[in-house]
Amino acid sequence: MTGFTPDLLNRCIACGFCLPACPTYALTKDETSSPRGRIDLMRALDEGILPADDPRVREEAAFCLGCRACETVCPAGVQYGDLLEEWRDQQWQGTGRPLVARLLMILVDARWRVRLLGLLRRHARTRGGPQGPSLMLGCFERALFPKVSRAARRLFPELAAPAAQGCCGALHAHNGDSARGRRMAEELGRRLPGTIVTTSGGCAAHLSSVLGRDRVKELSQYAYERDTPGGDPAETAGRPRIALQDSCHLRNGLDVWREPRAMLERVGTYVELPSAGTCCGAAGTYALVRPRDSRRVLDAKLDEIEAAGVDYVAVVNPGCYRQLDQGLRRRKSRVRAVHLAELLAGERPRRRAQ
Ligand code: SF4
Ligand code: SF4
Repeated sequence: MTGFTPDLLNRCIACGFCLPACPTYALTKDETSSPRGRIDLMRALDEGILPADDPRVREEAAFCLGCRACETVCPAGVQYGDLLEEWRDQQWQGTGRPLVARLLMILVDARWRVRLLGLLRRHARTRGGPQGPSLMLGCFERALFPKVSRAARRLFPELAAPAAQGCCGALHAHNGDSARGRRMAEELGRRLPGTIVTTSGGCAAHLSSVLGRDRVKELSQYAYERDTPGGDPAETAGRPRIALQDSCHLRNGLDVWREPRAMLERVGTYVELPSAGTCCGAAGTYALVRPRDSRRVLDAKLDEIEAAGVDYVAVVNPGCYRQLDQGLRRRKSRVRAVHLAELLAGERPRRRAQ
């Protein structure tokens, strides 16, 4: 069994600054469901005071969204995301892992199965091996939202999009198999030499942690660096009002949040949601593994989106896309979720009739 890296675990000074930033603490007001409380549990586990099958330890390892909002406010530089990976590496071995996560990991573990996911979907595809920059198609995005990669290719025709690419391994890294997650990212890096552009903030963060930040660009970064034109920012008539849901790992892990806002301002009137930087409850497999908790986090977010009087809420991650799209549909809201790539490519889904 792997353990915790002592330097990571010992860094917390128990100041509690992270508590107000934590969505699960906001739900429960229970210290154990806060970053500081969870680090205490990790220490107890590490010192053998609590066993790995202690119900509280198991519950908190699963209840945490892994959103890393706690990292951004921590004065001691605690790398909570790394600690959580080490924690789940210990606890979620074999049958300890939630069944849904286990099945999804098996599904995306082999490249041919990932390819099969997108076989009948019209995601972007190019023939031949990539030479220059390439577009990462992702595993679930190619099946659930194939229009996103098509929009990205329309925006940036220079991106190669070979279908024969696998999953980046973020799913494994966040669900208790960080070693396999790392190997999958390395394999993808060999398959897509040069710059890898991704429409998923979560994948961007994982890939960057393995391949280095120079190799990986999330779409808004890539567009921003190229000064991609959108609409005329000075023209206000007919411009949609657009809010953004940040991708947690993109914002909290890579500090990328200015770029998507700057890009949205080119295609509409940007409206900042008070909780734009707070998790929407999708959190990778969380919405499937813990649907009730995920809905509790989502409901407050949807109230806010509807109160903001926006036409669209833009996303930069497929998990957030699915979460917000389903939530808004359930409510029969007129607001539509849309990926940033679609908006930049000039596609605006029609507002739903109420
Ligand atoms: S803010 Fe950082 S140092 Fe303070 S309690 Fe939270 S994790 Fe520990
Ligand atoms: S990762 Fe998110 S949910 Fe987990 S402890 Fe940190 S702030 Fe709370």
